[in-house]
Amino acid sequence: MKNIALLGATGSIGCSTLEVVRNNPDKLRVRALTAGKNWQRLAEQALEFRPDLVAIADKDAYGELKNALSGSSVRVEAGDEAVLAAVEMQPLDAVVAAIVGSAGLRPVMAAIGKGLQICLANKETLVVGGSLVMQAVRRAGLDLLPVDSEHSAIFQCLQNCPADSVHKIIITASGGPFRSFSREQLADVTPEQALKHPNWDMGGKITIDSATLMNKGLEVIEAHWLFDKAYEDIEVVVHPQSIIHSLVEFSDGSVIAQLGWPDMKLPIQYALSWPQRWSPPLPPLDLVKIGSITFESPDPQKFACLAYAYEAGRAGGIMPCVLNAANEISVAAFLNRQIGFLEIPAIIRKTLDSFKNQEVTTVDQLLEVDAQAREIAAALITEGKH
Ligand code: NAD
Ligand code: MG
Repeated sequence: MKNIALLGATGSIGCSTLEVVRNNPDKLRVRALTAGKNWQRLAEQALEFRPDLVAIADKDAYGELKNALSGSSVRVEAGDEAVLAAVEMQPLDAVVAAIVGSAGLRPVMAAIGKGLQICLANKETLVVGGSLVMQAVRRAGLDLLPVDSEHSAIFQCLQNCPADSVHKIIITASGGPFRSFSREQLADVTPEQALKHPNWDMGGKITIDSATLMNKGLEVIEAHWLFDKAYEDIEVVVHPQSIIHSLVEFSDGSVIAQLGWPDMKLPIQYALSWPQRWSPPLPPLDLVKIGSITFESPDPQKFACLAYAYEAGRAGGIMPCVLNAANEISVAAFLNRQIGFLEIPAIIRKTLDSFKNQEVTTVDQLLEVDAQAREIAAALITEGKH
């Protein structure tokens, strides 16, 4: 029995993780559930899964959550510190990190500090704090298991391979809903259009990131840290059907890929079952039904976010943190109809240009840079200077 804490339980990955738990009651036991604001869903989940603790980051939601769980034996806490406390439960073997954005960095670092196995969906944690996270993971000798489907695919392709046999990592991208749009068409797209992903059903922020290709950029940086590869050895290929989740090219030219339906339950389950494999969470892949799969190059003119992410990744230091913060603010502004779709990359560009790079030494330093970059991006949005 593996005891888990699920951070970000009420989101898309959180709900899929609980589906995996539901299907494997003899293998997984939920000890703690956390959420940002959604106390109603968190309460429902707590009544079904009976964790020892639920924690909600939003302190204003404490009363309602506590009320909804009165009479149950579930302990209820609120605030950012309560979310951190979720990784201190006993007994605990693994943490599923499914908070969205850089808000996940401190909880992941806390889980590493507790020596827990980390099943990581929260890619922004590695984008922002990759060097510190990887140092801490190595020092503690922990398993950092990717949940992101591309990284799960690469991880699966790499099982039992000598590290020096890997020549290149090839990350696939669906291309998002605007793959075939012209730049002129992109200028006018609405949040509703951007939120309709052709293949994947995900949270709002990552769905917009998929439409701008920033999601792929963040994944390139995530792959750099997880698999210790230089940026020139990480390639992105657009594959609109999302059946091949990523590939590894080996030193002898052989290429190994992982295939599956576009559904996060399989990569989530593999992170939890690794190195074992459990019963399939999905119907078997049907190649004949899929019929054909295709590939094309991403268009850097139309999707500047991908190029900015490579640039920030190569620069290293605080630049990926700045990129991520500017992106989080711009995506939220786009969803709130304060800016247009093409202003997302424009604001990220200006925010990146307003920082001088620094070496990263502490999490507090990163959180400070994150806050500064958010302020700069927010000011650019309100002033309309982009
Ligand atoms: P989501 O928006 O659906 O859910 C986010 C969760 O985090 C919610 O439970 C929310 O309450 C919680 N949260 C948000 N802000 C918080 C805060 N400040 N403090 C504490 N909790 C907070 O997002 P999602 O789509 O499930 O994505 C979660 C993470 O997984 C992201 O980093 C995303 O990039 C990554 N990911 C998602 C998918 C997917 O299919 N959804 C695939 C691969 C990777
Ligand atoms: Mg992904």
